Amino acid sequence: MTALLAVEGLSVTFPSPHGGKLTAVDGVDLLLQAGEVVGLIGESGCGKSTLARTIVRLHQPSAGRILFEGQDVGALGGRDLRAYRKRVQYIFQDPYSSLNPRYSVRQTLVEALTVAGLHRGAAQVSRTEELVGLVGLPLSSLDTLPSALSGGQRQRVAIARALALEPRVLICDEPVSALDVSIRAQIMNLLLQLQRDFNLAYLFIGHDLPLVRRIADRIAVMYLGAVVEEAPSDRLFEAASHPYTRALIAATPTADPELERTRSRVLLSGELPRATDIPSGCRFHPRCPEAFERCPVEIPKRTLVEQGHVSYCHLSEESRVEGGLRVG
Ligand code: SF4
Repeated sequence: MTALLAVEGLSVTFPSPHGGKLTAVDGVDLLLQAGEVVGLIGESGCGKSTLARTIVRLHQPSAGRILFEGQDVGALGGRDLRAYRKRVQYIFQDPYSSLNPRYSVRQTLVEALTVAGLHRGAAQVSRTEELVGLVGLPLSSLDTLPSALSGGQRQRVAIARALALEPRVLICDEPVSALDVSIRAQIMNLLLQLQRDFNLAYLFIGHDLPLVRRIADRIAVMYLGAVVEEAPSDRLFEAASHPYTRALIAATPTADPELERTRSRVLLSGELPRATDIPSGCRFHPRCPEAFERCPVEIPKRTLVEQGHVSYCHLSEESRVEGGLRVG
C-alpha cells in the first residue's frame, strides 16, 4: 500500500554561524498512512519542527525525499505544488503569529478559500459559517479580529483556516503548548474529533508525552536530528527499547503520586550535544547510561524489535540476535 506521506532518508543542513554545517535532520524515514496519527517526540532542538517544516517545503532537504501519494514533492511546481500545499496543512504552536492581525476571522477564511479557488459568492459565505461551527466558534466570531480572541479561540481559527483547504494531512507543531492548561484539553478534543470526522492524518509534534500518547497511533522518537525508536503508542510507553526513550518516559511526571514515588527514574544526564558536532557511533552515547565499547565507534542499525517497533540501539540488535540464536 502506498503511504499517504513518506519521508525517505531526509536530511536538512544549514550553514552554522560559527562555520561548518549544522545537521538539523539526519537521514529520517517516516511513513504516514491516510487517517493515521503519528506522534513525534524528543527534546527541544532535536529537529522535530525542522523535519515538519521541510515536509511543507519551508526548508529544502539536503538529501532524501518526501513522497505524497507516491509523488516526489521536491519535483512539484506550479499547480501541483499549490495542490500539495492545500492537502498538507500546518498548525503552528503560536496561533497569534500565524494569523493576520488586521484580518477578521471572516477575512482570514475567505482569503484561504479564495487563494485555494474553493467556493464563491454565497457558497463561500456559507462555507465560512460552516467552518467556524466545525471548530466550535460562534457565528459572531466571524467579524472579530485575532486580538479580541483568546489563545484557544485563535487556535480554533487557525484550525478552521487549515480545514478550509480540505487537507488530508495536518502537521500539528505543538498546537496546544502555548495555551493555558485549562484550554489544552478542549483543543485536543477538537483535533481528535476532526481527525475522526474527516479521516485526517496528523503528524503531531509534542513535548507532553501523555498528551501525544493519547492522540497518536504510533510515535517516533527523535534525538539530535535522527529517529532512534518508533512503535505503536502504547507499546512505546509499556516496552520502550531505546535507552533515550526510556529516559524521556521516566522523566515525565505522572498524576499518580504513588507511582511517581516508587517508579525507577532513568535520568538524562548532560545537555543535548550541538547539531554541529554530532557524536561518533551512536549519537546518544555521551549521555547513555548503558553505553558500552561498541557505542562510540559504530552507528546502530535499524533493528526490528517486534512487528511495527523499530529501535536504533546496539543492545536491541544484540538481544534480537541472542533471542534468534536461542530459538534456532
Ligand atoms: Fe546507548 Fe549504545 Fe544503545 Fe546508543 S547504542 S542507545 S549508546 S546502548
